Amino acid sequence: PESGRTAATIAAIATAPGRGGIGIVRVSGTKLLDFATALSGRQPAARLATLAEFKAADGSVIDSGLLLHFPAPQSFTGEDVVELHGHGGPVVMKMLLARCLELGATLAEPGEFTRRAYLNGKLDLAQAEAVIDLIDAATAAAARSAVRSLQGEFSRAVNGLLEQLIELRALVEATLDFPEEEVDFLEAADAVGRLGRLQQRLTQVFDRAQQGRLLHGGLHVVLAGQPNVGKSSLLNRLAGDDLAIVTSLPGTTRDVVRSTLQLEGIPLHVIDTAGLRETADPIEQIGIERSWREIERADVVVLLVDACTGVGEADRAIVAQLPRHLARVTVHNKIDLAGRTATSTDDADGVTIALSARSGDGVDLLRQALLRIAGWHPAEDVFIARERHLRALQQTRERIEQAQAQLPRLELFAEELRLAQLALATITGEFTADDLLGEIFGRFCIGK
Ligand code: GDP
Ligand code: ZN
Repeated sequence: PESGRTAATIAAIATAPGRGGIGIVRVSGTKLLDFATALSGRQPAARLATLAEFKAADGSVIDSGLLLHFPAPQSFTGEDVVELHGHGGPVVMKMLLARCLELGATLAEPGEFTRRAYLNGKLDLAQAEAVIDLIDAATAAAARSAVRSLQGEFSRAVNGLLEQLIELRALVEATLDFPEEEVDFLEAADAVGRLGRLQQRLTQVFDRAQQGRLLHGGLHVVLAGQPNVGKSSLLNRLAGDDLAIVTSLPGTTRDVVRSTLQLEGIPLHVIDTAGLRETADPIEQIGIERSWREIERADVVVLLVDACTGVGEADRAIVAQLPRHLARVTVHNKIDLAGRTATSTDDADGVTIALSARSGDGVDLLRQALLRIAGWHPAEDVFIARERHLRALQQTRERIEQAQAQLPRLELFAEELRLAQLALATITGEFTADDLLGEIFGRFCIGK
């Protein structure tokens, strides 16, 4: 990370758009004391909330509220930060922002505050990603694990691995300078033992990150079946008391094609293929296309059939349309009508569960099957993680395996270790390409 750089002053409304009790405009830049003084008519004390009048250029009052001044480097961004806590109306917020722009600030880009925090060494990259993951968290468990990452738990695990790796590299590099001692080195430094311990720890971190990725991305389920087999009833049953059936894909106005529920804190994104019928309505078509794209990326298909009739031609036709890689759960619904008991069986075609969406009998078997397919094992110490992190950990793992295969050729061994370190360090962002940063911070909201 760079530090001590002089950056343009940026400003943005930091609170969500709309009406609220309080709205906050946040400003970050270099030497903002004059800026704050011009805005409020007096010099604010550092890190002390003071009641102030926010004034227009002609001295008239735009709003009154709290003014905060955080001098660098003790601020979120590491620069001077000024916060105006005013009344949370869209018009007054816009007027306050306009006043800040008039005083020389430029409008912040999405994620620019957090990006600056990263560039100034306030957060590493995994922590910066956790900021947005916390804001976007779909469940309480996801929020808790995002906070763990934000507080550096993931980064500490990665840094611990890096330390082990660097230690080993240092030993190897030192030996390379004294070729006659190469053979002794392997014994004396316990290179093989060290490598084994590193691998073991790497596997642990990978496992935790995998759980974290699940909390971040959730499990994508496609719900298929003929009309009236009980898809909506099952969805409602899975949602339980949790009134979380909320999200429909933006653009779809008719059917709720996608809902998000949760399963032990894991976001469960359910796409109901009932909404995917052929249509001439262009708006509906857009939603349907989007749903198909989601289906491509889904993890599991839950095929619902009537317990009295079982899987028929029409059901097989639906399944034939779906991507092959999907894990399959077949649900025989309405066992209360068929006079059957709830069961769960596993065979080559996947899991088959007999249940009643109406009575709830057997629905837990379905929940367990989905958690099993997801690879979830409950743990309290999960930190949030993304695909990017898993890929980096996987690359590190492969490099270390390569290193092992190179022994006793120390030069090649050392080179693989160097590459392993590079791969691992991309997680916290020590060596990270600019376009990756753009991609990560571009997904933030403005004002964050
Ligand atoms: P969908 O068209 O697949 O979404 O099916 P619905 O969920 O709308 O259910 C169709 C009908 O079947 C409704 O009248 C439900 O009450 C009924 N139903 C759904 N599940 C069960 C069940 O497990 N047992 C019984 N007896 N009826 C059910
Ligand atoms: Zn339905």
